[in-house]
Amino acid sequence: MTDSSRSLFEKARRLIPGGVNSPVRAFRAVGGDPVFLARGKGSRVWDVDEKEYLDYLGSWGPLILGHAPDEVLAALAATMRLGTSFGAPTALEVELADRVVEAVPSIEKVRMVNSGTEATLSAVRLARAVTGRDLIVKADGCYHGHVDALLVSAGSGLATFGIPGTPGVPQEVAAQTLVVPYNDEAALERIYRQHGPGIAAFIVEPVAGNMGVVPPGPGYLEAARRITREHGSLLIFDEVITGFRVAYGGAQSRYRVLPDLTTLGKIIGGGLPVGAYGGRADLMDRVAPAGDVYQAGTLSGNPLAMAAGLATLEALHRLDPYPRLEALGHKLESGIIAAAQKEGVPVRVQRVGSMLTVFFREGEVTDFASAGRSDTRAYGRFFHGMLSRTV
Ligand code: PLP
Repeated sequence: MTDSSRSLFEKARRLIPGGVNSPVRAFRAVGGDPVFLARGKGSRVWDVDEKEYLDYLGSWGPLILGHAPDEVLAALAATMRLGTSFGAPTALEVELADRVVEAVPSIEKVRMVNSGTEATLSAVRLARAVTGRDLIVKADGCYHGHVDALLVSAGSGLATFGIPGTPGVPQEVAAQTLVVPYNDEAALERIYRQHGPGIAAFIVEPVAGNMGVVPPGPGYLEAARRITREHGSLLIFDEVITGFRVAYGGAQSRYRVLPDLTTLGKIIGGGLPVGAYGGRADLMDRVAPAGDVYQAGTLSGNPLAMAAGLATLEALHRLDPYPRLEALGHKLESGIIAAAQKEGVPVRVQRVGSMLTVFFREGEVTDFASAGRSDTRAYGRFFHGMLSRTV
């Protein structure tokens, strides 16, 4: 860490819990102290001491076009001059909604919110309202934002009532969430056999990203679709990472499985705070004021956020970068595997398009349990080795 980062972090720790506004930024899992960044352009970022890095973080997903893309900056500048927030409907919201509906196969209507967390929170509320049921099923190791009902981990047993994943979530709330292993069709089948009439929805990352990249096994998403439908329950794809990332239309277009509701975030905000949830019109029309399910936001559909998202989606539509992302992802994957083999380091690289994780272990990672069997200390060394080489 450079001197300016060190002194900033010291001050930040006195003022902000852990010195950061989101826990992963503090480097606790990999050790060491964070680097404070000052600016970025394209694939590069510069820290507060003007040291240059090659950035593979991309702000955790939103920056598919890289840092400070000219078209996004131009859209922001033009929009900003007209005012930054109105609390009244604007044309940009309609345009972004139009883009999203056009792109994502299962979305007929969409509501903009301010983060992925708000999107999943609202989708869960809607699912409970339309089904008249309270239970939610989630997959172990999938992250859906810091929604109380979704900050739940499995207790012992293959599939079980959740226990709070953090203090502050009431036991009664966690008990409304059932947890199954990812990629386990039989466990999903079992939990629906036991609790089907009480389950509002199964929410899942269609390509898991938050336990490291774990692709859905053959037939898994299809099974999730079939089982939820058989039990009159909804299927929610959390595409906050995968939306406009693994394909323009998200994982649902790549794998051709259509959920009832979809949550989006990251890329659709083009680096500004945006989330969205959408789905079939009959479901979305239950949302207020069309329907009776309340959900609102002072800054929802904010003009600057809409402008950045719209400029990003327009660029993706025009450029169709997905074949190139696939090729570059493949090149990175092969390079890492070759380098690890040369040094005799056991690694497993898992990748879907431009989503990629290096697990320090041998053998396929299919769920949270197998992800947990990788050598995270080796990962920490790798991380700091790369960082010291300005990657
Ligand atoms: N869902 C998924 C799949 C995510 O990866 C995240 C955040 O990383 C969220 C939801 C929450 O989004 P946000 O951090 O914008 O609240």
